Amino acid sequence: MHINEYIAQMPAGYLFAEIARRVREYEALNPASPVIRMGIGDVTRPLAPSVARAFADAALAMGTPEGFHGYGPDGGYPFLIELILRHEYQARGVRLDPDEVFISDGAKTDTAAIQELFAPDAVIAVTDPVYPVYVDSNAMAGRLGHYRDGRWQKLVTLPCTHDNDFVPQLPSQRVDVLYLCLPNNPTGTVLSREQLQAIVDWARANDTLIVFDAAYKAFISDPQLPRSIYEIEGAREVAVECCSYSKSAGFTGVRCAWTVIPKALKGRRKNGERVSLNAMWTRRCGSKYNGVSYPVQKAAAATYTEEGQAEIKDIIDGYRQNAGLLMDALSDTACRPVGGVHAPYVWLKTPGGMSGWQFFDYLLTTAQVVGTPGEGFGAGGAGCFRLTAFSTPENTKEAARRVREALGRL
Ligand code: PLP
Repeated sequence: MHINEYIAQMPAGYLFAEIARRVREYEALNPASPVIRMGIGDVTRPLAPSVARAFADAALAMGTPEGFHGYGPDGGYPFLIELILRHEYQARGVRLDPDEVFISDGAKTDTAAIQELFAPDAVIAVTDPVYPVYVDSNAMAGRLGHYRDGRWQKLVTLPCTHDNDFVPQLPSQRVDVLYLCLPNNPTGTVLSREQLQAIVDWARANDTLIVFDAAYKAFISDPQLPRSIYEIEGAREVAVECCSYSKSAGFTGVRCAWTVIPKALKGRRKNGERVSLNAMWTRRCGSKYNGVSYPVQKAAAATYTEEGQAEIKDIIDGYRQNAGLLMDALSDTACRPVGGVHAPYVWLKTPGGMSGWQFFDYLLTTAQVVGTPGEGFGAGGAGCFRLTAFSTPENTKEAARRVREALGRL
């Protein structure tokens, strides 16, 4: 059989494998020098106790005639959707209908699958550096052409760097879809309400869809900053929003998320007819998807009880404090750290013109600290480096001290 050439031609996704290889090699040669891992994007703290309890209770109920649940509704159980509408949207003045919310097993799943709704020749734009899923999913569908000299031929990239304060300059060329991730992975930066409004206005004027990844919205600590793109006027006509319990409630191993597709959002057929993306996604999920398990959705619902909210706030505050420790330790260095306030990521400029990989090796061998080279997130990440706050306070403090000391030695 003939294969999908686009998947076959994908460059190797070697970033985390290569990091693991270098760390393994170093540890084997230096068993007496313990390494602190500050590179992973996975949470480390356990589930909130009340959430774990709800998860277990629902699983046990599945073993009884009264509590058993078979296939659930494709879009998710109404009990969870109602809670999402109330806590995530109505509380911030955003009104959505229940059938505009779709429960899924991950923001990765949905940000990767949403491209099934786009034309094969749709022009895709991403901010750069970028969470790689948006690029890879479109590349696999053949939309980005070939990968040459470290770039996808047909991908439009909007650099977000220290030099432009991480505010993307909007493209002058026609773009069908723009992926935006705020708070951003990997840079940890956010955009103000006004900056986001300018992007939404541009999208409306240019008939561009925004895929808004809000996986880190729970880390936003300034109430003035938008947590949902639908807080921005006109956004419901141009934006899909993907959210997740992974980073807000430690669900990376549990798997639960949601995507909002407003009914006001329309795409265009070749003949000019406008078509509801909500209807298309509903149709697509009906054919390809059987939903998220009942115990998982019960666990997600438990994050909205008073007890659950307090426990989750404590977990997020813990990661925020870690990010603060990193920022405090590095703020007056030449690394110009950004992020770390509304996100669990701190983004550094590597010193002395080092590449991200050179700085990786330098920190590993002199400070025994592991981070992520910016090159792993696209060309715009070259010469940068990501540290994460998903560690213990003790390790974070020690890592921050070691990085600072290593920088002082340069
Ligand atoms: N979106 C961004 C920007 C992420 O960084 C991640 C995980 O690191 C995800 C989505 C994945 O979310 P989920 O665990 O819900 O699939």
